[in-house]
Amino acid sequence: MSYWSRCFASVAAALGLLACELEVTSPSDDAPGGASGDGGTGALGPGGDGGSAGSTVGGGGAGAGVTTGIAPDGAVEGEHPGEDGDNVVTASPGTDDVLRVDAEPDEHIGFVLSFDTSSSDVELELTRWDGGSPVVLGYTDAGAGLRTLAAFDSSEPRTFWIRVRTTRDAFEGTLAITRTPFSDGPACDEDCDRLLQLPLRNDPAFDGYDWTSSTIFRYQFGRRDLVMFLRHAARTMALAGRSPILPEDLSQWDGQTPGIDVGAPRHASHQDGKDVDISLYGTDGLALWRSYCDVEYKSDGRECIPGTAADFDGRANAELFGAFLQSQRVTMSFLDGELIPLVQLGAEDAVDADALDATLLPLYSDGQHLQHWPNHDNHIHVRVSEAEYGASALAPEPFAAP
Ligand SMILES: [Zn+2]
Repeated sequence: MSYWSRCFASVAAALGLLACELEVTSPSDDAPGGASGDGGTGALGPGGDGGSAGSTVGGGGAGAGVTTGIAPDGAVEGEHPGEDGDNVVTASPGTDDVLRVDAEPDEHIGFVLSFDTSSSDVELELTRWDGGSPVVLGYTDAGAGLRTLAAFDSSEPRTFWIRVRTTRDAFEGTLAITRTPFSDGPACDEDCDRLLQLPLRNDPAFDGYDWTSSTIFRYQFGRRDLVMFLRHAARTMALAGRSPILPEDLSQWDGQTPGIDVGAPRHASHQDGKDVDISLYGTDGLALWRSYCDVEYKSDGRECIPGTAADFDGRANAELFGAFLQSQRVTMSFLDGELIPLVQLGAEDAVDADALDATLLPLYSDGQHLQHWPNHDNHIHVRVSEAEYGASALAPEPFAAP
């Protein structure tokens, strides 16, 4: 029985035009620990769980038992109901503002805290009721006048809390709570271009993705379809028993290229939520942000030295990429040219093992859906189409640098 046993129409191969721009930098190009991300400082006290591996969260439907996702009243001290729309929030050292939201399984809940940019030292933290206790899913403490997080749990009605913490006296801000209909799946049916924040994972082992101290949450806004495909790919890997992937930049909360908000764009593209950068699997089974070759620096950026690719799991990465291709909405993706043949071989192995639909195989070697670009020895960049849905097949789209 194969997950891929469904039949998918093949996608027309397409030729791209080559241009000569370069991706400015990728989020984790810098050495590990460069920690420009949200969770890096933890300066404001208890903070989150840091997003490292283990989690105690129930895993959205993975568990048995009769626990309920709705917490008893007062399960978190000081909680008060968060209203849809704008909420005035106030906090001071030792006095957090804690808003409670009970979410339906078909609701994406977006939290956007905005405040005077002269304020700083403000942290937004998202907590989920796991049936027995509140568990912190993540937190964000970076950015000028803005904090964003999102929640989603398709398993059952679920209680979340959003906490505002500060070291400032008399902090005041506005927390917007937005419920948007959302469901998971390999294909998008409607409202596919709506910009939504990638929800924090409830359980990395179930959802198949995670975050680290390098993750910048206000840069994790994608088109609805890309968020769906990303979650689908991650879940596909989790179902296959593979480690969580680490998605980094999609687009800013306003659809612009990540880094525009601080005057230092991190990419040439990544506008309007059509692009995502994702870590890759190594032969140790982990999908970490790390190079899979010896690199040399050229005028266009960092490239693998021919023949030095190592510790790269072509099969796992082919399956990961295949879960995106399944959507038939991928226009082009970028990976160092030294790694591409390993993914192509891995795709053939995956087809042989009934872990990849054979009709997707040509897309790995058409030079369009997977193509070389500098600075992609440590991640894959996946782009989806912005064209209207409904056409029988996607027309080729012009090349645009990652
Ligand atoms: Zn990218």
